[in-house]
Amino acid sequence: MPIARAYAAQSARVPLTPFSMERREPRAHDVLIDILYCGVCHTDLHHARDEWGVGVFPLVPGHEIVGRVAKAGGAVTRFKVGDAVGVGCLVDSCRDCAPCRQGEEQFCIPGAVGTYGSRERDGAPTQGGYSTHITVDENYVVRIPESLPLDRAAPLLCAGITAYSPLRHYGVKAGDKVAVVGLGGLGHLTVKLAKTMGAEVTVLSTSPSKRDDALALGAAHFAVTSDTDTFTKLAERFDFVLDTVPAAHDYNAYLGLLKVDGTMILIGVPTHPTPLSAFPLVMRRRKLGGSLIGGIRETQEMLDFCAKHDVASDIELIPIQKINEAYERMLKGEVRYRFVIDTASLRAER
Ligand code: NAP
Ligand code: ZN
Ligand code: ZN
Repeated sequence: MPIARAYAAQSARVPLTPFSMERREPRAHDVLIDILYCGVCHTDLHHARDEWGVGVFPLVPGHEIVGRVAKAGGAVTRFKVGDAVGVGCLVDSCRDCAPCRQGEEQFCIPGAVGTYGSRERDGAPTQGGYSTHITVDENYVVRIPESLPLDRAAPLLCAGITAYSPLRHYGVKAGDKVAVVGLGGLGHLTVKLAKTMGAEVTVLSTSPSKRDDALALGAAHFAVTSDTDTFTKLAERFDFVLDTVPAAHDYNAYLGLLKVDGTMILIGVPTHPTPLSAFPLVMRRRKLGGSLIGGIRETQEMLDFCAKHDVASDIELIPIQKINEAYERMLKGEVRYRFVIDTASLRAER
């Protein structure tokens, strides 16, 4: 069995440290992937610190995986050795329920198999992409278009699809006024994709220092949420608010920024619930929705869209040895705009 080097959290209260594990030999429909890059999603941190109370340890995080096929099972038809491929948040699902049949495996009724912190259908624990290799069924693997740089493509596998899917599902179109709350990994890709779809984007941020970046990423406007007059100046302004913030904050204030019939979409997942008042929804017939990553087919569609429109993540490439520091910087909102692990640093480790 292939041995993968990795970094794992042994419990919720300790830093990630070196770890090694076996990956399964490719079965008929599997590919073994040499991982080149893995993005660092805020969800990795929520899991590594067990902030959602679903912890499975030891845990190797990482679900923004890009690499090359090293070995393909005998029945694999879609990929060959050497192909540039990606794996996102899912590595399997029941394939039979209504959402699976519709290509929305993220909503699999018995439960999709997460790339880490989950269990394969045979019961084996799943471990993620902060590692040198992974074995995945070809049906849960996507192709990275040639024109995308592999390191800057990695964050598209979670942050990219998480931004793309709600923009499509909720029907954001050219000319719509869209507010993006929080300019981090998800936020910066939401700005790029919404702008590419023709929307007029406003970034709402806690960080005044991100103004120039927001405008360079494609936003038309930028406002700081700690300025008391932001919520009065921008009241009733937007068709959509996409909220990427990972910490508790007042949803009611952001609902007030929507026009009549406007929609607020939650994609950030705070660790604590927030009280919701009926008034901002009732008084303007506004809607509050959510969105979870996207299915495998839509992930491929998103990658092809990004290749066509030259969209990729802004990244800071790090060696795996800097992962704990990267988590601390992510918590301070310092990431510009996604950390990506170069797994050459894992291969070099003795
Ligand atoms: P990130 O890179 O850390 O970005 C989050 C941004 O939110 C920060 O850069 C900061 O932007 C803002 N922020 C942070 N703390 C805040 C606070 N206390 N109050 C207000 N704003 C704050 O995180 P990410 O990787 O984009 O992930 C964001 C959230 O989405 C996480 O909860 C993650 O688990 C979730 N997620 C959901 C899905 C899904 O399918 N729905 C998929 C992936 C991730 P400013 O400096 O601009 O304020
Ligand atoms: Zn993620
Ligand atoms: Zn299913």
